[in-house]
Amino acid sequence: MIGRTDLKPLIEALDRRAEIGDPLQLWLRDDDAVEPSGSLDRLLELTQRHQVPLVLAVIPAFTGLALQERLASADTVEVVVHGWSHRNYAGVGEKSQELGQHRPTGAVLDELARGHALLAGLYDTRFVPMLVPPWNRIDPQVVANLPGLGFESLSVFGPEKPAPLTMLNTHVDIIDWRGTRGGRSVDAVVADLVSSSRTHRGPLGLLTHHLVHDAAAWDLMELILEATARHAGCEWRSVRDLMAQSAVN
Ligand SMILES: [Zn+2]
Repeated sequence: MIGRTDLKPLIEALDRRAEIGDPLQLWLRDDDAVEPSGSLDRLLELTQRHQVPLVLAVIPAFTGLALQERLASADTVEVVVHGWSHRNYAGVGEKSQELGQHRPTGAVLDELARGHALLAGLYDTRFVPMLVPPWNRIDPQVVANLPGLGFESLSVFGPEKPAPLTMLNTHVDIIDWRGTRGGRSVDAVVADLVSSSRTHRGPLGLLTHHLVHDAAAWDLMELILEATARHAGCEWRSVRDLMAQSAVN
């Protein structure tokens, strides 16, 4: 049973941010979109109802006009590049990776250039030149070449590291990948959000995966958005705004 009391530490942290006039900057990244689905409808309905900007990391190789048409009426969505095909090139026993050292860097870069061009063509002003590496892993040699492909931002998971382009990472994942592969407990996600809000400087990214959400994951999203969307102690931001802000700073 999920109740509002589970959110108390988060509300209290946001109340303090409101008091000191320093609202927490939040952004929402959802990965692996390819085509319209019931789960995507639910995600769009949820984010639109709360007026929370949604950054959708789309896998270029398998997407096309069907998703473009579905997103045409979703005016709070930004589309970013999620690798090329989300294929794992790592060997048995290695962590999954598409953009690692398993292939020549040039081959990886060629695919990323195709992905950038394809999604820029499909989404025009909704497209943001951000790369989200599948499994949040990418070889440094590939990163060094991203600005040359037109990418202006890179987003993985965890604390930001120095890079030749704007880093906007996600820091809190709502899915329990090693356990149920469904939503984590409200207490655990709230504790992550609160501790990250204290220690992390800069925008805090929330990571979701609509295609694998179970009832717990959807409940969690609903609770978090409901608690935060209209709270004076935080602001949900689009990545275009955050990238412009980081270019000024
Ligand atoms: Zn992915």
